[in-house]
Amino acid sequence: MKDTYRRNINYLRISVTDLCNLRCKYCMPESGVDKIQHCEVLSIEEIIKIAKESAKLGIRKVRITGGEPLVRKGIIDLVKGISEIEGIEDVAMTTNGLLLKKYGKELKEAGLNRVNISIDSLDPDKYRKITRGGEVRQVLEGIEEALKLGLHPIKLNTVIIGGENEADIPNLMNLTKIYPIDVRFIELMPIGEASTWSKEHFISNEEVRNRVPELVPLNQEIGSPAKYYKLPGAKGRVGFIDPISSHFCAECNRLRVTFDGKLKPCLHSSQEIDLLPALREGKESLNKLLKEAVNSKPEKHLLDTEDYEAVTRNMSQIGG
Ligand code: SAM
Ligand code: SF4
Repeated sequence: MKDTYRRNINYLRISVTDLCNLRCKYCMPESGVDKIQHCEVLSIEEIIKIAKESAKLGIRKVRITGGEPLVRKGIIDLVKGISEIEGIEDVAMTTNGLLLKKYGKELKEAGLNRVNISIDSLDPDKYRKITRGGEVRQVLEGIEEALKLGLHPIKLNTVIIGGENEADIPNLMNLTKIYPIDVRFIELMPIGEASTWSKEHFISNEEVRNRVPELVPLNQEIGSPAKYYKLPGAKGRVGFIDPISSHFCAECNRLRVTFDGKLKPCLHSSQEIDLLPALREGKESLNKLLKEAVNSKPEKHLLDTEDYEAVTRNMSQIGG
């Protein structure tokens, strides 16, 4: 489906929970999120219904995210349900990888094609500090499992935080020499309650790139928000996603659904369209609301302008 700016909207990102087994400093409060009532969260059936209606309108790729999608009860059934929808060609997941060793095989059998795994440090102590308690060994085991199962391509997502994990940049990039995977650096975004903290710890990707002069630029991939480079002799690529310093709104092809049933036309806007009246009360049609979201996608986000109003929800609630 084309939006007002002639962009083809074919990608749906669904946050299936706001809960997580980690508490990354830039994403979640230390105490976790306030528990909400079970009935406020979309059921597995409702999520599949949204994906089905979206597929009728031209969505071809679905990414399941969160919070941490692998702590959501019924996640295997959800992957299966989405992968069986006519028109859906690609089912992907973004995960912190802690539970990938446990669930990888079932996910693959249910129809998951690929995973993005988030990892901000290879140093056990630093990883524990950033995530407030995580064990990096479990993530590395998750990556090995994903490779073994042939989930492809595997992309690692890394956020560099000024004063925290800058020293990890070379080690994280060197993973592309060991494994046939891409390691992508995503700029820290000022979202949610940690938005002021994030601004203070922001390091641009340009700065990250400049620290590793051996990187060789590759041809730009059409439709990808990442700019790719390669280390000499590496099996995988090093990517940079710069939502802050060079936004990719002109190529934005996505819609987002939050765990509590709100459609978000733009990640960096607080505009949300409530799907619950359509799903639960038959008051509106899902088809109409999905079209409304596509038609209200802004030309570009206002992050670097004076008109920007910080999005108050945390990334764990929106889905990254
Ligand atoms: N729990 C899963 C994970 O960590 O991969 C999926 C959800 S998480 C919200 C998705 C991605 O958003 C992660 O790669 C995380 O690093 C990123 N993220 C969260 N808050 C962010 C922020 N303020 N700026 C940049 N990336 C952020
Ligand atoms: Fe959890 Fe992912 Fe947020 Fe970290 S980034 S707290 S793993 S949702």
